[in-house]
Amino acid sequence: PLVLGIETSCDETGIGIVRGRTLLSNTIASSMDEHARYGGVVPEVAARAHLEALAPAMEAALAEASVSLHDLDAVAVTSGPGLAGALMVGVGAAKALAVSLGTPLYAVNHLVGHIAADLLTGEEVEYPTVALLVSGGHTSLALVRDLTSDVELLGETVDDAAGEAFDKIARILGLPYPGGPEIDRAAATGDPNAIRFPRGLSRASDMAKNRYDFSFSGLKTAVARWMEQQEAAGAEISIPDVAASFREAVVDVLVTKALAACADHGVPRLLLGGGVIANARLREVALARAAEAGVTVRIPPLTLCTDNGAMIAALASELIMSGRRPSTLDFGADSTLPVTEIQVAEGVRS
Ligand code: ATP
Ligand code: MG
Ligand code: FE
Repeated sequence: PLVLGIETSCDETGIGIVRGRTLLSNTIASSMDEHARYGGVVPEVAARAHLEALAPAMEAALAEASVSLHDLDAVAVTSGPGLAGALMVGVGAAKALAVSLGTPLYAVNHLVGHIAADLLTGEEVEYPTVALLVSGGHTSLALVRDLTSDVELLGETVDDAAGEAFDKIARILGLPYPGGPEIDRAAATGDPNAIRFPRGLSRASDMAKNRYDFSFSGLKTAVARWMEQQEAAGAEISIPDVAASFREAVVDVLVTKALAACADHGVPRLLLGGGVIANARLREVALARAAEAGVTVRIPPLTLCTDNGAMIAALASELIMSGRRPSTLDFGADSTLPVTEIQVAEGVRS
């Protein structure tokens, strides 16, 4: 099926078009620059930016895919989770588009969309797989037995998301927003073992109780305290060493828990998704440790890892191919939609 996907859950306005599992176009407009002076995504600014970006992004995506709106078999949209106001812009646009074209509409889960992005790489995809989703808003570990019917949440962050931690630490280190790329760059010349920062929820007692959950707020406090102590002592601070040591702590815990999930469930596959996958050290450590554990790692290209509309279209396309009914129009934006709800408001089977 030819599907157009609309994604507006955070600061990317994404319009993607797929045919089956073939990617035809993936247009992304980001309002990231507008959030830079606030050091994080401002919901009202993001929602307004989506309103302005949607129409041109849609025109660009249709032109790039060389299709017209009337060719579409379905429209897909992110219903949640995400920022309520931002989601509402996409949901409203998708409903208007589907109704005016008389086209089926699929309201889908953003996190499962990140997992569906992997379908568009053109490579053979196998389930079950463990999926680690790390972005500015999410840090989730899921067990995917079937993309269209069985996604189980194993764990998630109990406080900050991994990307959020990068952004906050960058601020402490005096680096600009978004912090992830800045810390990656600074860390390249630093010593990852210079300072031993805490690995959240990783002690033996935590691994028994919160085995697949993440926590980064303690790490943030530890870095802040370490900086204060050094400054108070008049010691010279190596930003590359702090950045590398912080990055190592985040990467270590992400990879350790993801591979624990693979081992516990006897699943030799790990899929990585979300904007933090841009992190060079995360990819390096994940690949090395997974190889030792006999786990195959899949990392879609970064344009499919960060928020985009193509992954939303890919998920809907997969739902259609497995015979699922379109969503009824009574769904809304659900900022806390759980990962287990793959599709929202599926119509009753006739
Ligand atoms: P959502 O959480 O809804 O998926 P988002 O916009 O917060 O959306 P992304 O756009 O996928 O998330 O990713 C942005 C986040 O990724 C930011 O927090 C940014 O700092 C982080 N990031 C980007 N590049 C890197 C990197 N090289 N290393 C670590 N983090 C990075
Ligand atoms: Mg973003
Ligand atoms: Fe996302």
